[in-house]
Amino acid sequence: MLKQKLTIVKVGGAVVEDEAQLQQLLRDFTAIEGAKILVHGGGRRATQVATRLGIESKMVEGRRITDAAMLEVVTMVYGGLVNKHVVACLQAIGADAIGLTGADADVIRSVKRPPVVVGGQETDFGFVGDVKAARGEKIGRFIDAGLIPVIAPLTHDGQGTMLNTNADTMASETAKAMAAVGYDVTLVFAFEKAGVLANADDENSVIKRITADDFARLKVDGTISGGMLPKIQNALNAIAAGVKRVVITSARAIDGQHGTVITGNA
Ligand code: ADP
Repeated sequence: MLKQKLTIVKVGGAVVEDEAQLQQLLRDFTAIEGAKILVHGGGRRATQVATRLGIESKMVEGRRITDAAMLEVVTMVYGGLVNKHVVACLQAIGADAIGLTGADADVIRSVKRPPVVVGGQETDFGFVGDVKAARGEKIGRFIDAGLIPVIAPLTHDGQGTMLNTNADTMASETAKAMAAVGYDVTLVFAFEKAGVLANADDENSVIKRITADDFARLKVDGTISGGMLPKIQNALNAIAAGVKRVVITSARAIDGQHGTVITGNA
């Protein structure tokens, strides 16, 4: 039987928070043929709302510490403000979207991350979830009903606690789960740059294809750093788990013809 095509687009915080870029992305997303899922971030907006509420954002090496007060903020901002804004905008252009966190219909469960050592120091990231189970068959039911799931970066532990969860991880775990239930999955990481760049300052230096071996080399020579490291690791994990194609590309070019394609070793 021919597998059903499914495109999962993950859109980073910077794009979601720029209204013009978001609207363009949603139009391009809607134009993609076949079944679709959108996964969004929203970190900067959470920081802004926290500041307005007098709650300090604590970061360790660029990663947010989610204490009880910050968990309330991210739940409101990711699950409410950002998710519902995206859903309403999709509805406005005729796309029948439904907003979900991992808790809704129990689509994605996680476990609270135990304290980890960062830079030689034990760090408790607080209410942060490491994904345990994404339920492809459940998410497939929304697709079968003609709906477009819009997934916020929040999961639950199955015992009543919401957990802040990395949006790239949400996207790759969703992609893996959908591949496992038989979809032909393309995962697109849309962000503000043209793709994975050979030279950080040159948008024309997009690396067309990266294999696991290339990644190891580009990591060592420093070409790839920061947030791009876990993004490519997530991409390679998805490929290893049966996702057909992973593309890292500009939010302005999500048609699958641009950016960097991540593949297993040839
Ligand atoms: P998102 O926008 O999806 O939240 P991140 O900020 O986590 O993404 O990761 C993308 C960032 O990784 C880029 O904005 C850039 O600063 C950084 N980066 C590091 N190395 C590269 C590279 N070789 N090419 C492109 N981006 C890179």
